[in-house]
Amino acid sequence: MAMCRYARDLEVAHDADVFVAGGGPSGVAAAVTAAKCGAKVFLAESTGAFSGMATAAFVPAFAQFTDGVNFLADGFGRQVRERACAGTADLFDGWVPINPERLKSFYDEAVREAGVDFSFFTNVVDAVTEDGRIACAVLASKRGLFAVRARVFVDCTGDGDLLAFAGAPFEYGTDGDREVQPPTLCSIWSGIDFNQRTGADQAGLPQAIADGIFSVPDLHLPGFIGEMPGVPGVGIGNVGHVFGTDATDERSLTEAMLDARRRLAEYGRYYRECLKGYEKMALVCTAPRLGVRESRRFVCDYTLSESDFLSRATFPDEIGRYAYPIDMHASKADAEAFGKMWEGYNAKYRYGEGESYGIPYRSLTPKTLSNALVAGRCLGADRKMQASIRVMPGCFITGQAAGAAAALAAESGGDVRGFDVKTLQSRLKGLGAYLPRLALPIGEQ
Ligand SMILES: Cc1cc2nc3c(=O)[nH]c(=O)nc-3n(C[C@H](O)[C@H](O)[C@H](O)COP(=O)(O)OP(=O)(O)OC[C@H]3O[C@@H](n4cnc5c(N)ncnc54)[C@H](O)[C@@H]3O)c2cc1C
Repeated sequence: MAMCRYARDLEVAHDADVFVAGGGPSGVAAAVTAAKCGAKVFLAESTGAFSGMATAAFVPAFAQFTDGVNFLADGFGRQVRERACAGTADLFDGWVPINPERLKSFYDEAVREAGVDFSFFTNVVDAVTEDGRIACAVLASKRGLFAVRARVFVDCTGDGDLLAFAGAPFEYGTDGDREVQPPTLCSIWSGIDFNQRTGADQAGLPQAIADGIFSVPDLHLPGFIGEMPGVPGVGIGNVGHVFGTDATDERSLTEAMLDARRRLAEYGRYYRECLKGYEKMALVCTAPRLGVRESRRFVCDYTLSESDFLSRATFPDEIGRYAYPIDMHASKADAEAFGKMWEGYNAKYRYGEGESYGIPYRSLTPKTLSNALVAGRCLGADRKMQASIRVMPGCFITGQAAGAAAALAAESGGDVRGFDVKTLQSRLKGLGAYLPRLALPIGEQ
């Protein structure tokens, strides 16, 4: 392979207590929380808006904020539910449909209100590490390369770009194979009669596949959760998986975008010809970004696992609790893989009302680095648990905790393991976080 050496001095354009990479649900929660806790925060976001997958990839709805009894994503998540989704009722299983423009406005305001300094169109492209800590993040924008120095670095890029550049260990797929949940290119459609539809988008798939409507035999169709709030007849389609995509490889992402756009015509035909309420449906636009469900998962001091989900685990260093089922989209288009997925989602991995699992602080502390944290869909979890915690209310919980922890670490030299976790828990409690163990008498916590 031909190589080219590149070395230069960079301007340190920002000096912060806390640097947050990525402004998706976890990143905004982390940045706003760290700022509320008194830290000087700088956030870099590669697109032109906050909210990550929900606005850049048109993810259509929030998954459950509650366990049916308790508001689990309390604190920052409650603000999102009450301010960005005001007037929108919960649908079945606690889904809340999204209007992406309302969400963008809410985030713009929340970030500015908190006093977070930030720039859009700014990518983290490298990291400088010294003695097990990140010294600087290297950023790229239209003006070229520059550096950000901070006491604590929080990776909320979804793919863990900053931590990967800093050499933190991660996993991708299962046991050495690189199979992950496939991404979807979400899309906005008009002309839908939401009163007429039956909700059974999946039912006609086997016949439509047999009839040759689809070029890929994909038997899983999340479909349209509900009407976009405030926009009658318009919905966001979560339709079509692109199997075999590597979200950390731009060539693979490029192929995936082309393939997904081509295959949307097949979904348009299926909906119009086979399903009630969709006869006049028309494609408005596809998302500018591919919707990525899974890529790198970082090796942290604790790896949340399927057994923690099944046992409804509690932890002494709990920073929150969550309850969404393990929703592991099949990585291959074969009938056995789809069967396993449905069995898990509908039965084995479904909680009763009021049940939840704990999230330990240690699942946010990446091994080998002393001044870095991770939140959102690439935190320390096995593939099964990632398939639960990855949804947006889960990201609000881990983002909020990472923000509070980063501010605390910044106050005392930058070591994310250098403070008493009880101090973090009581700060989180003060911010509204759902931490029922803290209500227990000392000794039973
Ligand atoms: C198709 C699909 C459907 C889904 N459906 C739902 C659903 O219905 N309900 C639900 O709650 N969740 C759903 N999810 C899950 C959820 O949207 C994501 O898991 C969640 O958004 C992850 O949040 P995050 O903050 O970890 O990362 P992201 O949302 O990916 O945000 C990361 C942010 O970082 C930025 N970024 C990335 N790399 C860099 C870099 N190098 N430098 C600077 N910025 C960078 C990105 O632009 C982005 O804004 C779905 C996901 C997909 C893909």
